[in-house]
Amino acid sequence: MMLRNLGQSGLRVSVVGLGCNNFGGRIDLDATRKVVDKALDLGITLFDTADIYGDRGGSESALGQVLGNRRKDIVLATKFAGEMDDAGSLKGASRRYVMAAVEASLRRLKTDWIDLYQLHFPDPKTPIGETLRALDDLVHQGKVRYMGCSNLSAWQVVDAQWTARDLGLESFVSCQDEYSLVARGPERELIPALEKFGLGLLPYFPLASGLLSGKYERNRQPPEGTRFAQTPRLADRYSTEENWAIVDRLKEFCAGRGHSLLELAFSWLASRPVVGSVIAGATKPEQVEQNVRAAEWALTPDDLAEIDRLSGVGSE
Ligand code: NAP
Repeated sequence: MMLRNLGQSGLRVSVVGLGCNNFGGRIDLDATRKVVDKALDLGITLFDTADIYGDRGGSESALGQVLGNRRKDIVLATKFAGEMDDAGSLKGASRRYVMAAVEASLRRLKTDWIDLYQLHFPDPKTPIGETLRALDDLVHQGKVRYMGCSNLSAWQVVDAQWTARDLGLESFVSCQDEYSLVARGPERELIPALEKFGLGLLPYFPLASGLLSGKYERNRQPPEGTRFAQTPRLADRYSTEENWAIVDRLKEFCAGRGHSLLELAFSWLASRPVVGSVIAGATKPEQVEQNVRAAEWALTPDDLAEIDRLSGVGSE
C-alpha cells in the first residue's frame, strides 16, 4: 500500500483509506470487525469516522471495540461539530463544546489521542479564532496530533489559515469534501486554495455512494441490501440523467482499456496531487479488497484529458 503525506504535514496516510460511516448503524459489530480486519490486513492505515456517525456515537464505539491494541498502528481520524442531541445543544465549534466533544470521542474510541481531529461543518455562531485556539490547546495537550476541517468553502479555509498564522496557532492540514468523477465542484475554488496553502484533500463520497462502483443499472431497482436500496434519499441524489450519462461514457472508456469503473473512480482520485487518501466506505471485506486493488491503474496525461472531456469538465 502506497503512503502519502497529508498536504504539507508530516502525517503519512495510506492512499486508500477506510470511511467508517457504515459502522454502528448500517452494519453490526461482527460485520464491522470483518471490514476493519481486512482493511488492516491490506495495509490501510487511515480510518475516518465522526462522532455523529452510526446514530450518534455508534461508529466511534464500534471502532473502539474492534481495533483494540491495533489502534496504535493506524491513523485515526474523527470529527466534531455535528448535532449529537435532538435539542441541538450538543453541536458546534465553541471552545466549551470542542473540549467536551473531544473527551466523549476519546472515551468511545478507547484511546488517549486522535490523529486527525476535524471540524465537520462550519459553525457560523463561533469565531474561527476561538475554534482554532481550542484545537491548538488540544494539540499541545497531546490529545490531538493534527487538525483538519470539512465542508468549509474556499474563503473559509483561507480565513482559517490566515487567522491561525495571525494568532500563531496550529493550523488545518486537510479538508474533507465531496469529490468524485460526478462531483467536481471543488476544482473551481477549493482545490486551488488547498494547493496554495498546502492542505491535503480527503475526498468523501468517492464512489458517489456506490454509483461509481458500477453495480447499479439505469432504470433498474438497486440490488437488495445496497445503499441505494436502503437509503432512497441518496439514490435520488445520485441517480440523475446527468450522472448516468457520465457513467455510461466513462464505462465505455474503461472497457476499451480493460479496466472497470470502480478502478477508474479510485485511480482518478489517487492521480490528483492534492488528494491524500481516498476514504471509501465499505460494508463487506470483499469491497475493501476490490477498492485497494482499484487504486493501481496509472492514468496517463492523455487519459486524464479524455476523462475531463467525458465528464463534461473544461468544456464551458
Ligand atoms: P462512498 O465511498 O461514495 O460509497 C460507499 C458505499 O459504496 C459503500 O457503503 C458500499 O455500499 C459501496 N461500495 C464500496 N465499495 C464497493 C465495491 N468495491 N463494490 C460495490 N460497492 C461498493 O461513500 P461513503 O462511504 O458515504 O463516504 C466515504 C467516507 O467519507 C465515509 O465513510 C465518511 O468517513 C466520509 N464522509 C464524510 C462526509 C463529511 O461531511 N465530511 C460526508 C459523507 C461521508 P453498499 O452499502 O451498497 O455496500
